[in-house]
Amino acid sequence: MPSVTSAEIAAAIRNVADFPKPGIQFKDITPVLADARLFAGAIDLLTEKFKPGEVDAVVGIDARGFIFAAAAALKLQAGFIPVRKKGKLPFTTHEQDYALEYGSATVAMHTDALKPGARVLLIDDLLATGGTAAAAIALMKKLHAQILEVGFLIELKFLHGREKLPGQPIRSIVVY
Ligand code: AMP
Repeated sequence: MPSVTSAEIAAAIRNVADFPKPGIQFKDITPVLADARLFAGAIDLLTEKFKPGEVDAVVGIDARGFIFAAAAALKLQAGFIPVRKKGKLPFTTHEQDYALEYGSATVAMHTDALKPGARVLLIDDLLATGGTAAAAIALMKKLHAQILEVGFLIELKFLHGREKLPGQPIRSIVVY
């Protein structure tokens, strides 16, 4: 049983208006990370459904997703796999484009990051429009991974990001 509630995590998330540009309500998770109990509790909540031995790898998305995914991987005794912005991974990669509000972006994963059939979780800090997570899922599918769950510390429900992740079991800890 996680010893921290989602309400306690919600209370620690700091809303920063107009960052990085006017109109954006930025959800700052650094106060959660800075509190040892809340950080551990967030990882407990994100991994609640699984025990060590049930998950082969946890995939995290550049950059805040790495923090949660790496800690979850350690707890589940699983490997950690990074999905990075294009041009950062040194070995051969698969790439996936996705749409942003203005323009597009590309994420990449090493071609040997996951074995076919690997049991994996995807974790990121925040689900907004869903484009980033959908691109990461496309990369995981290229490697024929078995996606057990997609977890987010925060979901901005009014942006309907879930609609871009059809058929995926989704866990979000704090919903706005
Ligand atoms: P999206 O592809 O629209 O779902 O955006 C998700 C990514 O953008 C996540 O990796 C978040 O880190 C970041 N992001 C989007 N909106 C916000 C926000 N309001 N506050 C903090 N991070 C955000």
